[in-house]
Amino acid sequence: MIEFFSKLFDLSDFPPRWRCGNWSEFLGWLHISSDLATWAAYFAIPAVLIYFARKRADFPFTRIFWLFAGFILACGVVHLIDAVLFWYPIYRISALVKFVTAVVSWTTVIALVQTVPKVIHFPSLAATNEQLRVEANQRQETERELRAAKARYEALLSGTRSIVWTTSPEGGFVTPQVSWERYTGQVWNDHRGFGWTAAFHEDDRSDWISQWASARGEATKFQASGRIWHHDSQSYRSFVAEAVPVLSRDGSIAEWVGTISDIEGQHKAEMELGAAQSELAQQKRELELIYEAAPVGMSLVDRDLKFLRINETLAKINGYSREYHLGRRLEEVLHDLSEQVIPIYTRIFATGQPELDIEIVGRTKVNDSDRTWLVSYYPLEVSDPTTGDEPSKKPDQVTAVSSIVQDITDRKLQEKRLQESERNALAASKSKSEFLANMSHEIRTPMAAILGYADVLLGYLKDPDNRNCVLVIKKNGKYLLELINDILDLSRIEANKLDLQIEKTNLLRLVADIRSLMHVRASEKNLLLVASFDSAVPEVIETDPTRLRQVLINLLGNAVKFSETGSVVLSVRLIMQPQVAIEFAVSDDGIGISKEQLSRLFKPFSQADTSVTRQYGGSGLGLAISQRLVEMLGGELLAESELGKGSTFRVILPIAISQDQRMIQPVLDEQSPENDDVRIHPRQLSCRVLVVDDRRDVRYISQHFLEAAGARVSTAEDGQEGIDVAIAARDTGEPFDVVVMDMQMPNLDGLQATATLRSHGIEWPVIALTADAMKGDRDRCLNGGCDDYLSKPIDQAELIEMIGHYSQDITIDELRKRRNERAAALRSSLSQSP
Ligand code: ADP
Repeated sequence: MIEFFSKLFDLSDFPPRWRCGNWSEFLGWLHISSDLATWAAYFAIPAVLIYFARKRADFPFTRIFWLFAGFILACGVVHLIDAVLFWYPIYRISALVKFVTAVVSWTTVIALVQTVPKVIHFPSLAATNEQLRVEANQRQETERELRAAKARYEALLSGTRSIVWTTSPEGGFVTPQVSWERYTGQVWNDHRGFGWTAAFHEDDRSDWISQWASARGEATKFQASGRIWHHDSQSYRSFVAEAVPVLSRDGSIAEWVGTISDIEGQHKAEMELGAAQSELAQQKRELELIYEAAPVGMSLVDRDLKFLRINETLAKINGYSREYHLGRRLEEVLHDLSEQVIPIYTRIFATGQPELDIEIVGRTKVNDSDRTWLVSYYPLEVSDPTTGDEPSKKPDQVTAVSSIVQDITDRKLQEKRLQESERNALAASKSKSEFLANMSHEIRTPMAAILGYADVLLGYLKDPDNRNCVLVIKKNGKYLLELINDILDLSRIEANKLDLQIEKTNLLRLVADIRSLMHVRASEKNLLLVASFDSAVPEVIETDPTRLRQVLINLLGNAVKFSETGSVVLSVRLIMQPQVAIEFAVSDDGIGISKEQLSRLFKPFSQADTSVTRQYGGSGLGLAISQRLVEMLGGELLAESELGKGSTFRVILPIAISQDQRMIQPVLDEQSPENDDVRIHPRQLSCRVLVVDDRRDVRYISQHFLEAAGARVSTAEDGQEGIDVAIAARDTGEPFDVVVMDMQMPNLDGLQATATLRSHGIEWPVIALTADAMKGDRDRCLNGGCDDYLSKPIDQAELIEMIGHYSQDITIDELRKRRNERAAALRSSLSQSP
């Protein structure tokens, strides 16, 4: 080997080229420089090629490149050696290099031959350009589509009410989620990573997270529901979430894409539907229960008059099982009763109208005596399902009739008993009233005699002791009379039998009258009685003057009775609040009433305390009656009192004031009460009076009183005699001015006698005299042709005042007018009453 290499560089065998042949300088150097230039170029080309090959690793055919580079480089070296040969004859190295060159060249040739078939199919540049152009176009198209898809995606995101989201494989948000932010109000910092879990309702959060974790583990479709915070409504709303994993090439999860849909509306609707359905079912159950448990019979019968439905109660009434009824016709079950029932069903199917509260009397299979049932029948209308209209009233659409049956046999029996006992009670009440009327008559008549004769006796007696005895008799008689009047009044009020006579009443006259009446009693006890009007008042009010007088006299009587010193004041005023009313206040400086006593003041027979009764007497009825009377007049009676200081009783009577009402401000105190007191200065009479009474004592007493007042008096013992005397007097030209006619007389009573007088054209005033104090007495007398009314026992002053009034103050024409008015009013009330 060493020998080979040393031989290789052995230059001794060959001369340098300069000396081999006849080289001109020029030709030699042309060779040398050309060879060197070629070598330099052949060295540069492979360098460039190798540089290219190294830079473009993707370039195909690298081997060819290398071979090509090697081949050129070898050729270059051959040229270099050719230049070197001019000085150094290294022909052996030259041959070696040429051999290497030949090997490399042929290797390159072989490689080229192998490569050419492949390269030959390479597209031409134009074709490549064309392809590139197509590809560029395609790329632009794809980009356009991508942009459109992106826009669609964004539009979807902004347009949808759902939340669309993407997360990392682990489930955290890695990019801001626009629709999430919009729905929940969480900004990016809130929902990034796993911040989104905060938007879930805390009760749902742990479920949600664990379901999400298991879906992630299995890389399967995820589905869950729950409640999520909704920013706009500031409330949690129900949602359903779905997500799918997007897988990468290696099968691992690249990301999750999902949606969350708000199903609150649907959820609510479902809940409501559910609630409605369960309520419906509940109602149905309740109805069934009611149907079954109803204590009344119920049934449903179709157009063929067959039972569709029946409850247990009715089945029992009919005496067959419920199953037996179903599908059977009415007559198969009701037998005899069907004659009453079937026409009703037929009518309802024909008219569509219900028939209510029909009484069916008879017996079913299980009764051995007649019973009564109260039955109501209702047509059952069905709406036309094709039109969905309201239930039609058309008779042919009545598909069934339902009935409700109630056994009222016992009730009927009870009603009958009740009617009977009501009749009995009415009869008892009537007999009580009659008893009271009779008793009143029986007590008043002897009282009339006792009091009358006491008065007569007083007229004769001069001795003070004797007079005193008679005065005691008179006082006690009066007391007894008051008592019986009170008891009668109370029983009349309680039996609702006290009628009011509402009329226009002059307030000043009423008060003056009361004051003059009470003045005597007050001055007997050295009390000052003051009556005053504290404000302007209507001149006339609408009330019952008799009853109002009774109340005020009772209050003033009490005030006088329970006071020893000081004054008793009756003050009258108009009050506007709470409504327009007249207030009569009776106050005294008397013994007063304790709080405890005040509370039971208006109860009948209750007196403040028994010591008071012992000291002052009294029945305890006055206030009870007064209160009831005031209530009947539409007002109220109030009491205020302080023990030892005095009391005030107020009667408040609401009144209506019209525009044309005359208001006055009376000043009473300037008048002397005595001027008003008719009893102290009775009238002087100069008239003829006929007294008709079957009782001698009444005739005697009346005559005595009237003659003492200056009248001329005739008497008659009964109605017939009265008529005879009257007619005789008229015919002889000595007519009577007034007739006093007792109402209860044997043979011909007062009413009949008065009617006969009127039929004979006698128009003198007739004053009815009666011991009856029951309801309707006054009306009966006035309607029977009398002009006024006096009750027994006869009060001397009252009698004289009334006779004086009718003989002096009033004309026959006026009386005739009044009688005609009364007759007209009576006729119209009779025609109105059924
Ligand atoms: P009597 O007929 O007993 O007076 P009333 O019903 O009028 O019946 O009165 C009942 C009781 O109320 C009286 O007994 C008395 O105790 C008490 N009373 C009524 N008015 C007064 C008054 N002005 N002062 C004190 N006590 C009174």
